[in-house]
Amino acid sequence: MFCNKCGKEINDEAVVCVGCGCAINSSRSVTENRGLITVLLCWFLGIFGAHRFYTGHTTIGVIQLLTLGGCGIWWLIDFIMLLLGNFKDVDGNIIKVI
Ligand SMILES: [Zn+2]
Repeated sequence: MFCNKCGKEINDEAVVCVGCGCAINSSRSVTENRGLITVLLCWFLGIFGAHRFYTGHTTIGVIQLLTLGGCGIWWLIDFIMLLLGNFKDVDGNIIKVI
């Protein structure tokens, strides 16, 4: 991956950039921050597939929008998976809910 600040190529596991010394925000913490937003989207707009659009699953989002969250069943399964920590975004990162 590359440093956000100086653009230098750095090790994927690095926590500090060797080029400019700034701290690296790992994708893991970003994923955790998205957890609460994903849950709220799922709860309030889940039957429209909002949480699927938010996590990058655009095709599934459209299908859920057209079927109203699979008549509510698919929406309920997604919501339970989110709470259990089994829901992943399109890149395979687990959406963690704190
Ligand atoms: Zn840097």
